Amino acid sequence: MKPLLLHACCAPCSLEPVRLLREEGFEPTICWTNPNIQPHDEWQRRLDELRRWCADGDIELIEAGEDRERWEAGVAPLGADRARRCRACYALRLAEACRVAQERGFEFVGTTLAVSPYQLFDTCNDVLERLAAAHGLTPVIRDFRPYYPEATRRSRELGMYRQNYCGCRFSAVEAAMDRARIRDERKASKK
Ligand code: SF4
Repeated sequence: MKPLLLHACCAPCSLEPVRLLREEGFEPTICWTNPNIQPHDEWQRRLDELRRWCADGDIELIEAGEDRERWEAGVAPLGADRARRCRACYALRLAEACRVAQERGFEFVGTTLAVSPYQLFDTCNDVLERLAAAHGLTPVIRDFRPYYPEATRRSRELGMYRQNYCGCRFSAVEAAMDRARIRDERKASKK
């Protein structure tokens, strides 16, 4: 098995990437570095769920550095510009994951972010590719999005905590607005 450092945003999004990467011959070590998640209680809840799942599955978990001040200084000012905001957010987290991978002697690096259809897939991969190259690593880029429904099903079956927004305060507002819009559209279609 080839050791791979897998940046993880949460436990539910790790389920399918870990299964599929193992099928390919990789042995993922999970790396948590998500200073984007707000508020603190939410961050703690997602990390606790990931700790539980890793312990149950005998998966190594590295809790890497998290620079909230850098997130506030470099990502938050991009606010409503989602494309630039998310690129900067991916870069901050994946840079830390690549730093850890390099320091610990990994050759391969990946991220579970690519499982969620909410994420900016091409942007995320572009950021990972650049950072992996800068750290002398090989990025393992896969399209896990078709497995999102299975990840949802399995995480429900396991009784995992499932969040309903990406992580930052901007995404919490965006997700709430999306849900309100969908509710309104449903109501309108029934009239
Ligand atoms: S929406 Fe998600 S990826 Fe984008 S800035 Fe917020 S937490 Fe980061």
